[in-house]
Amino acid sequence: AHLDRISEVDTDLHAFLHVSGPAALATAARIDAQRAAGEELGPLAGVPIAIKDVLATRDMPTTAGSKILEGWVPPYDATVVARLRAAGLVPLGKTNMDEFAMGSSTEHSAYGPTRNPWDRDRIPGGSGGGSAAAVSAFEAPLALGSDTGGSIRQPAAVTGSVGVKPTYGGVSRYGAIALASSLDQVGPVSRTVYDAALLHDVIGGHDPLDSTSLTDAWPSMAAAARAGLADGALKGLRVGVIKELSGSGFQAGVTQRFAETLALLTAAGAEVVEVSAPNFEYAVAAYYLILPAEASSNLARFDSVRFGIRVNPNEGSLTSERVMAATREAGFGPEVKRRIILGTYALSTGYYDAYYGSAQKVRTLIQRDFDAAFAQVDVLVSPSAPTTAFKFGEKLDDPMAMYLNDVTTIPANLAGVPGMSVPIGLAPEDGLPVGLQIMAPAKADARLYTVGAAIE
Ligand code: GLN
Repeated sequence: AHLDRISEVDTDLHAFLHVSGPAALATAARIDAQRAAGEELGPLAGVPIAIKDVLATRDMPTTAGSKILEGWVPPYDATVVARLRAAGLVPLGKTNMDEFAMGSSTEHSAYGPTRNPWDRDRIPGGSGGGSAAAVSAFEAPLALGSDTGGSIRQPAAVTGSVGVKPTYGGVSRYGAIALASSLDQVGPVSRTVYDAALLHDVIGGHDPLDSTSLTDAWPSMAAAARAGLADGALKGLRVGVIKELSGSGFQAGVTQRFAETLALLTAAGAEVVEVSAPNFEYAVAAYYLILPAEASSNLARFDSVRFGIRVNPNEGSLTSERVMAATREAGFGPEVKRRIILGTYALSTGYYDAYYGSAQKVRTLIQRDFDAAFAQVDVLVSPSAPTTAFKFGEKLDDPMAMYLNDVTTIPANLAGVPGMSVPIGLAPEDGLPVGLQIMAPAKADARLYTVGAAIE
């Protein structure tokens, strides 16, 4: 049924870069046979899933939305993909994304943008717009995304979906094509909080193949989500509203739905207080130094030799340096080039302390803001994004405007804390979905599921 739905709507939506129909049907048939034979299967066995194209899959091309990786089929699976397969989920295909996960609209995909199912003249968010659109349009019940500065939460918010960025180190990054290694996390996209929790339980937990993977034993996220459905689940919960992430600069309908949700929380017995995080003001600026610096280093591996395409220069000698330059010139899009230039500049001798060094200090201040806030409250909340889905082209020629769309989501990545976006209704002025962002202390992901399920 999901493959039929994809045939029906995806020519227009373009949520998928690759659909693996025959393989999906074969996997589904195998799971059916196992079930018929009385084998004990997990709760998601047989459930189809869409996979963001940033994750390595040994049976499907993996391009990260870039021409430089066109046609590349990795020789291995990302750990999260291996875990999906082991749990009996059925991969449907790979979803569209901004090139190398750089963007907030999917307009930076080298393969053309994805449309928002709610309004096809609008963006589905980014960088994981394909995963969110696929879930929102009922092409897949579940999807995987990656979130470096909001790429799971913001697309979830603007498509009326649920999206979770786990605690840094909670889900393996092995086989996730790196954007900024100190910020990247893989996480679930779904239509309900409980579905996201079931998927989190499948993909999470220690992986020796990722050196930053936490060795903690994690509680069941599904059990935490179920706890949120009990009467009185929110009683006594201390909720902090981040002063710096509400009020001015937010679309009126976003602010209105946010305020209504706070009133509902109070009515449900939560204690809602305002908290200040004074350094969040500098989060976007610090992020756009740290991210390009790490990205410029990570993307150095696309050298025309090890992966993807190779382009020879039009004239002159074929030295390795000239082939590499011609390949990177043809293979990378404008946003990727912009960030490589920013990153290499910020890392160069003489500028390192002033830019990268200062940004790392700001990062520490933001972590301290979180620590101070979580000393007072159990969870922090804000709108997931400043606006609902914007129109194609609206921010494409203005990188600063595009970057500022991440003001709400970036702090959680800089501090490594988990964040979730849950739908809280439609903005009255445009009828488009609004998301609530919930954040919890590091390793308290389960709390997000309890609170998210209760709010949903
Ligand atoms: N929009 C952010 C950026 O462009 C988010 C990226 C991400 O989370 N992958 O960097």
